[in-house]
Amino acid sequence: MNMPSPAAAPAPGARRVAVLGGGQLGRMFVHAAQVAGLRVTVLEPDPASPAGAAANHHLAAAYTDPAALEVLAAQCAAATTEFENVPADALRHLARHIAVSPPADAVEVCQHRAREKACFLAAGVPCAPFAVVDSDATLAGAACAGLLPGILKTATLGYDGKGQVSVDSAQALAAAWQQLGRAPCVLEKRLPLAHEISVIVARNRDGRSVHLPVQQNLHRDGILAVTQVPAPDLGADLAEQAVASARRLADTLGYVGVLCVEFFVLADAGPEGRLVANEMAPRPHNSGHYSIDACDLSQFDLQLRTLMDWPLPMPRLHSPAVMLNLLGDLWFDDAAATTAREPDWPAVLALPGVRLHLYGKAAPRRARKMGHLTVTAATAAEARAVALQAAARLGLPPF
Ligand code: ADP
Ligand code: MG
Repeated sequence: MNMPSPAAAPAPGARRVAVLGGGQLGRMFVHAAQVAGLRVTVLEPDPASPAGAAANHHLAAAYTDPAALEVLAAQCAAATTEFENVPADALRHLARHIAVSPPADAVEVCQHRAREKACFLAAGVPCAPFAVVDSDATLAGAACAGLLPGILKTATLGYDGKGQVSVDSAQALAAAWQQLGRAPCVLEKRLPLAHEISVIVARNRDGRSVHLPVQQNLHRDGILAVTQVPAPDLGADLAEQAVASARRLADTLGYVGVLCVEFFVLADAGPEGRLVANEMAPRPHNSGHYSIDACDLSQFDLQLRTLMDWPLPMPRLHSPAVMLNLLGDLWFDDAAATTAREPDWPAVLALPGVRLHLYGKAAPRRARKMGHLTVTAATAAEARAVALQAAARLGLPPF
C-alpha cells in the first residue's frame, strides 16, 4: 500500500486544537487536551452533543462546511477526528493548512470493510475468509465460496452490529442482500469464537509506535458490554501476536494517531491460526476507555501526543481494570417501560474503585451508549469481583 507521508507536526506552543465529531470519544479527547492546557474547538452539526458541551468552542456546522473548515484552519494548530465516518475530504482539506492525524487515506481504508480487509492481507494479518458482494455475479460467487453459514455486512457505515445479517443458505444470503438495499457488502464466514480482544496502538510521525495492554471484550447483541484488562483468557504468545499485528497494520497504513484493531480468538486453530483480525477503528475505541483510570497515559492522551508530536513513551497499566458499558436500557425498568428514570448510581458509587463516566446525553434510548464505569483494584480478581457486584446492583447480567 502506497500511503503519502503525513502532514507536518504543529509548531511548538500551540494553543488550540480541533476535533471533528461531537460524540463521547470527542468529549474525552477534549478533557485530555484541556488537562494539557489546550483549548479545543469541536466541529459537530448537532447543537447538543457530548463533545460540543465540553469544548471551549463548538462550531455547529457540517464537517465539510467550507467556512467552518476555514475557521479551524485559521484558529487551530492541529485537527483530529473522533469517528471514522468523517468525510475524508474534510481531513484532506485541513491537512493542506494544519497538522492532521489520523491521515485521511488511512481513515478511508477503515471506513470500508473491503479496503480494510485488503489492508489486512497487505500487512500479512489473517482475517475471516470473505468475499465482496456488490453485484448479482459476486452474490452468486459468494454463495458457493464455502462461506456459509456467514455474516453479510455492509461495506460502509456499520457499527454496534448494525448493517449485518446472519445467513446460512444461498437463499438467505440473496434475501439479506435485498434487505440491505443491495448496498456493497462483504460476506464473512461465521467463525467459532473463543474470545474477542482488541489492541490500541499509537504511532508518531517518525513511525515509532506504542500500545496499550491487550483488552478482552464481551459483546452482547453486537454491542460492547464488558472489557477486562489484563485479558483473563489470553496467553502471552497470542497477546504478543495481536500487538505485533496491530503495529504492522499501523505501519502499513502509514498511520499517525491512535488505531484500535479488534481480533477474534478462535475456539480451534484454523488454517490462519487462532488469531484473526476483525476490524479497525482510526480513533480511540470504547474498549480503551479503561485506560483513563487504569493507565498512566490514556488512549486520549495518546491521541493528543501523536497529534501534537509530543514524546510517546510506552504507556503502563497501573491497575487491573474492568469496564462496564452503560447503555440507555439501564434507564428503563424493563423492556415494556416507556418512561426513563435515573439508575441507582449511589449503589455503585459506594463500591471501592468505581469511577462513573457519563457522557451528558439528554435522552436515554435503548442500545444508546450513555456512559461507562471502570473498576480498578489491586488485583484482577478484586476488580472482577467488584465489577460483578456493580453489574448486579445496576441489573446488568454477570460476565
Ligand atoms: P461492528 O462494526 O458492528 O462492531 P463487527 O464486524 O465488529 O461490527 O461485528 C460485531 C460483532 O459480531 C463482533 O464483535 C462479533 O461478536 C460478531 N461477529 C462479527 N463477525 C463475525 C464472524 N465472522 N464470525 C463470528 N462472529 C462475528
Ligand atoms: Mg466491531
